[in-house]
Amino acid sequence: MTLRIPPGRMLLFALLLAVAPRLLALNPAWTRPFPPHRIAGNLYYVGSEDLASYLIVTPKGNILINSSLESSSALIRRSIRALGFKFSDTKILLISHAHYDHCAGSERIKKLTGAKYFVMDADAPVVESGGKADFQYSADPTQRYPAAKVDRVRRDGDTVRLGGVVLTAHKTAGHTKGTTTWTMDMPQHGKTLHVVIVGSPNVNPGYKLVGNDKYPKIAEEYKHGFEVLKSLPCDIFLGAHGGYYDMTQKYAHMKRGEANVFIDPDGYKSYIADRERAFEAELARQSAAKP
Ligand SMILES: [Zn+2]
Repeated sequence: MTLRIPPGRMLLFALLLAVAPRLLALNPAWTRPFPPHRIAGNLYYVGSEDLASYLIVTPKGNILINSSLESSSALIRRSIRALGFKFSDTKILLISHAHYDHCAGSERIKKLTGAKYFVMDADAPVVESGGKADFQYSADPTQRYPAAKVDRVRRDGDTVRLGGVVLTAHKTAGHTKGTTTWTMDMPQHGKTLHVVIVGSPNVNPGYKLVGNDKYPKIAEEYKHGFEVLKSLPCDIFLGAHGGYYDMTQKYAHMKRGEANVFIDPDGYKSYIADRERAFEAELARQSAAKP
């Protein structure tokens, strides 16, 4: 059987072919809207059902973490407005790491809001190349996204400050060379709550942990990342994907009237321990397979 495409539809067909792999790869929860909500204090969830974006509101304007997909800016803007804040007050844009599901929308959000883009040193060339400089996906066009200029490069331990809020950038690399776990201290009822937004401790399918010419230190950096993650004090456990911290379940508990549902130090510890075991198992498997 031959496929006959009317000449007038050729362009449309070619376009569909070009975007199909990306559409097929998309998890529906990545684009499904989710009710925006207050996590604690001045920290809000403004992402989709699984792609987490966070808004930190300050008197000097707001900080947004994760621009997500190219198409996510509309959802993020709606969520910010629904909470009663202005998208145009976004002054600083941060990311969890330089993969398209967390940073593809950065160029658009910079353009729409004028926000300054702060990125961890080793992820900066990747976002500025639109994903072409990624150690794993450089040859995969479905992982590309609009290149976005970095306004300020952050290094491990650097801070981002706005309107009295201080966020600290912890390099927890391996997943990307500049994967960043963001922390902030939040005063609440005379106590300090430690907020941790995990960058990603996951080993993706196809990652070479042994003999990786494009990222020789990958295993070493994952190991260091786990040491950092285990050392961070955590009360409020968050991450680059809602799934890391069972966001939808915790939200459901909150809707039923439970208080402080996002305070979960034990959930944080067991998540990190589980991910470290998965990393160690994959490293052992690859090391054993090496001739
Ligand atoms: Zn990723």
